[in-house]
Amino acid sequence: MNDILRIAIQKSGRLSEDSLKLIKECGIRFDNGGGKLKTAATNFPAEILFLRDDDIPGYVEDGVAHLGIVGENVSEESDRDVDTVHKLGFSKCRLSIGVLREQEYHGVKDLDGKSIATTYPRLLDKYLKEHNVTAQIHEISGSVEIAPSIGLADAVCDIVSSGSTLLSNGLKEVETIFRSEAVMIASKHLSPGQQELLDQLLFRIKSVQVAKNNKYILLNCPTTAVDEIIKYLPGMRSPTILPLATEGWCSLHSVINENEFWENIEKIRQAGAEGILVIPIEKMIL
Ligand code: ATP
Ligand code: MG
Repeated sequence: MNDILRIAIQKSGRLSEDSLKLIKECGIRFDNGGGKLKTAATNFPAEILFLRDDDIPGYVEDGVAHLGIVGENVSEESDRDVDTVHKLGFSKCRLSIGVLREQEYHGVKDLDGKSIATTYPRLLDKYLKEHNVTAQIHEISGSVEIAPSIGLADAVCDIVSSGSTLLSNGLKEVETIFRSEAVMIASKHLSPGQQELLDQLLFRIKSVQVAKNNKYILLNCPTTAVDEIIKYLPGMRSPTILPLATEGWCSLHSVINENEFWENIEKIRQAGAEGILVIPIEKMIL
């Protein structure tokens, strides 16, 4: 079987670093030096293509690439016929409508009859239709935020993460129309062998993601405190308990969700835990 997966990622931009990191964390090795546009993995039947993010959904639809990593915003806007196979948890942002700060705004109906500048005409149109608003959509290819201040449009619809770009252009965010994060998209025409490779890749990605949310915790405690402490450390099955050289003490090992860790750490200490170590986990196979 000579199947190979061609994976398209952004060449340079906000998705590039995390996309490369994810592929590497999945144990896939390749040489990406020298600004190459295509590289072959050395230990997995895959090739990586480095493209502009806007082109990725089209390449995946056509089967030129079998998989792609893009923002959901770009994938949805492109309206290409691809499968979204997994959410990747990075490059979180939202597509929002902003108006000039001094403009009064009471609700989406205020946009009726207005003009809105955006690079996302399709998503904006869908939102306006859903809210029965008739506005003129001005499609522009960049620097959307300055449109209201130069009189090109009454409002903008653009990507926001902290909101500081809107603020620094005298705008305020008034509606969020779409929430986005990086996603893995796949061609609808994978061969059975490619589908199997995709399943292997997704299994690795999920193991990396689960590991990121969990920590390995080790602590020492009096043997008499174990029952109390393990209430807060459910572990994967149950904690491992090893005797210490000091009589009446033991070492307890478990896995804990990062959020639960901060909620429970005080209770664990009060119950008598000492020398608590929290260690990152590289992969976690469930
Ligand atoms: P290209 O040259 O490849 O077309 P681009 O300029 O269109 O790049 P970037 O600005 O690199 O795109 O953004 C890529 C994706 O990252 C966006 O489509 C969006 O999903 C996400 N993104 C954009 N801005 C932010 C942000 N401020 N914070 C987090 N994610 C963002
Ligand atoms: Mg782009």
